[in-house]
Amino acid sequence: MAEFCLTCWNRMNRTPGTERDYILSNGRELCEGCGRFCRVVEGERTFKFLYDLRHRKKQRNAAVLTPPRFLSPGPRPAPS
Ligand SMILES: [Zn+2]
Repeated sequence: MAEFCLTCWNRMNRTPGTERDYILSNGRELCEGCGRFCRVVEGERTFKFLYDLRHRKKQRNAAVLTPPRFLSPGPRPAPS
């Protein structure tokens, strides 16, 4: 299987994929798109919630600690 870094992968597939969407190699591999050594896409990430658990725990806790009244956007002007 050809190996491409995330940038080349998105360019080829016209996708806005991020590290959350794709599993990247731990080490640096030769990207066949740009010819540089970088972390390449190894596959599509199936369990994105696992990535969320690992990377977004602090943000989630912050949201829980914030009282709901601070999150409400307030009254909006009615559409005319
Ligand atoms: Zn590349």
